[in-house]
Amino acid sequence: MNRILRGMAALGIGAAAIAGCKGNGVKPAIDSDKAIEAKVEKVLSGMSLKEKAGQMVQLTILVLEDDTHEALDPAKLDRIIGEYKVGSILNVMHDAAHSREQTAAMVRQIQEKSMEEIGIPCIYGLDMIHGASYLTDGSMFPQEINLAATFNRSYSRQMGEALAYETRAAQVPWVFSPVMDLGRDPRWPRHWESYGEDPYLQSEMAREETLAIQGEDPNHIGLDNCAVSIKHFMGYGVPSTGKDRTPAIIAPNDLREKFFAPFLECFRAGALTAMVNSASINGIPTHANAMLLSGWVKEELGWDGLLVTDWADIDNLYVRDHLAADKKEAVAIGINAGIDMIMDPYDPECVTAIVELAEEGTIPMSRIDDAVRRVLRLKARLGLFDNPVWDREYPDFGAERFAAGSYAAAVESEVLLKNEDGLLPLKGNERILVTGPNANSLRALNGGWSYTWQGNADAYAPGFNTILEALQKRFPNVSYESGVLYDETPFSWQKDYDAGIAKAAAAARRADVVIACVGENSYCETPGNMDDLNLSANQKDLVKALALSGKPIILVLNEGRPRLIGDIEPLAKAVIDVMLPSNYGGDALAALVSGDENFSGRLPFTYSKHPHALHTYDYKVSEYRETMEGSYNYDAVMDVQWPFGHGLSYTSFEYSDLRLSSPSDFKAGDVLELSVIVKNTGSREGKEAVLLFSSDIVASVIPDVKRLRGFEKISLAPGESLEVPFSLPANSLAFVGPDGKWRLEKGEFRLAVGNQSLMVNCTETKVWDEPNIPR
Ligand code: BGC
Repeated sequence: MNRILRGMAALGIGAAAIAGCKGNGVKPAIDSDKAIEAKVEKVLSGMSLKEKAGQMVQLTILVLEDDTHEALDPAKLDRIIGEYKVGSILNVMHDAAHSREQTAAMVRQIQEKSMEEIGIPCIYGLDMIHGASYLTDGSMFPQEINLAATFNRSYSRQMGEALAYETRAAQVPWVFSPVMDLGRDPRWPRHWESYGEDPYLQSEMAREETLAIQGEDPNHIGLDNCAVSIKHFMGYGVPSTGKDRTPAIIAPNDLREKFFAPFLECFRAGALTAMVNSASINGIPTHANAMLLSGWVKEELGWDGLLVTDWADIDNLYVRDHLAADKKEAVAIGINAGIDMIMDPYDPECVTAIVELAEEGTIPMSRIDDAVRRVLRLKARLGLFDNPVWDREYPDFGAERFAAGSYAAAVESEVLLKNEDGLLPLKGNERILVTGPNANSLRALNGGWSYTWQGNADAYAPGFNTILEALQKRFPNVSYESGVLYDETPFSWQKDYDAGIAKAAAAARRADVVIACVGENSYCETPGNMDDLNLSANQKDLVKALALSGKPIILVLNEGRPRLIGDIEPLAKAVIDVMLPSNYGGDALAALVSGDENFSGRLPFTYSKHPHALHTYDYKVSEYRETMEGSYNYDAVMDVQWPFGHGLSYTSFEYSDLRLSSPSDFKAGDVLELSVIVKNTGSREGKEAVLLFSSDIVASVIPDVKRLRGFEKISLAPGESLEVPFSLPANSLAFVGPDGKWRLEKGEFRLAVGNQSLMVNCTETKVWDEPNIPR
């Protein structure tokens, strides 16, 4: 076992980290509260080693279910809570959503048992990913990728508020949300769970969601709020294979500059817990990465929150990663690296392993006490010691305003990518053929984490309209031919089959316009792995067959990641990417294509065109080369389908007068004040996402071609104009060098908004010694 401690030393992790990270003299991310700390110390001092170990383990509710899968088994409660003293439970019974009352009754039963047997409340956690998505009667919002497309922070706020309130109403105080894995590889099956590919956009939206879920005071989480678990710390979204839970190779400067950014933002906003990346970075499983867990998060930030593993990821250290010889060694590696709570999720014997490792001294008692303090502190901050359960009305459960927010977010998130000859909006009296496997499916509209893990909205949300139903309600002349359908066999949901392509093509000839709804069925995590980013062959065949009719095609993409459509895109006159807009997504689409609403969504990721050219918008300047003359006749062009930030509207906007009101010479610590005039030059009202980009012209590390530094969503009547201000901290123009240090270098930067740009000049190079530069 000594090799575990030796390994930690090799990673540069000192005794302080292993002993329990007291902070490094830095201002802590969350100020501690004296009364809470006193409570924690008092409880801790009365605990046995077994009770301490129990607090560090989280099991799934499936280990407590009886044979009906609808109720808890008292004998199992005796064993798990009574005997093993397990301090946390997660997940849903029978792997599916339950009503608020059923969920609350189950949690009450667990709490009663915990108070009786341990005297410490249990903490229950749920994956509430896009609203209260595990409650049959909960409010659902569009998935995070859609909220990112709105470029409107208020929707992350609204979703966070609804999600926390309704989860609390079910007696659950902890949510495994928001997700902040940058969606920088479109092959990855969790692309849609993120706020897109850009670190700034992701940081801004995730911070809003965190604050909405937790409220403003992380020491006192109210009964309308929950603790967040920001996830998955970190670098999870760019596996080299594109497959879930497989290794990533990330340059150390990118890790600090881009991947850490959203986490840092949320730690600074008071995030109380974080869940660890299931996979590995540069050969080290994140669950064993003491440098990141204890170093970057706990020591550097003086963060006193809790790090929970992802599902069975301690087991993965030996079963999958061959980093440990057996479970016990894996437990020691994880806890010594900085893990505070192990989501095991089926094996209470994990408690025994922790006890033995502490008795043997492989895990120092100081590390155990530090981890347990973090668990107890979380429970105290949530008020669980005073109110393990709460008797309170939740009159706003399922409130109309949540539904209105969800609909409005869906409208602002669906992106009009192409609209040749002004095909849209439709006039209304056309004979419309609706076709494709996504036309009549709430499951596809919602995606994963919707009532069930893999998503099964059709079974739980019959009251909402599919795309087809919404169009039928809005337009008088709608016919339907599925053409292609998805397989209904469990875990074959991604497969599709020809359900009458020829019939759909024949129907197209009788129509004036065709709305082809294609994309993906719902999936989540590893079951969403795939080997070809192209849209399926059947669906492409459907579009090609429809095109033979000569009728104009509106291609509706309902998908969690940008499936490649390079060969069929020219066959469509209009293309709309609705992504995963949830239960009101069909209504939103009908309102948009009819012109009742106007489009304002923009892509929060790059829509690639070629299977082996998957780009992000912030590529290195050297990645783009025009064709050179002579013997070196090569090029390396960025040929994408649609760039990050692309999105059309029924109106037009003109940008003018980008100007600085602060000096154009600046240095670290300054704030650049600028503004631009945006005018609605079209004939109808519209919303516009105004995006501010910067480009570092010359730098000691090849610069990114551009970076998003600010955004505002505005609404303008026809003819109206508005001055949009931006305050840009000079420090946000810094980058991380190969030595891991933040640097802002002397020289010129271009700032651009719309078609406007201006140059500013940094007069002094500054290199920071602190790992995270002050804002
Ligand atoms: C997922 C997490 C989730 C956890 C608990 C894991 O498989 O990766 O995102 O929070 O399960 O359900």
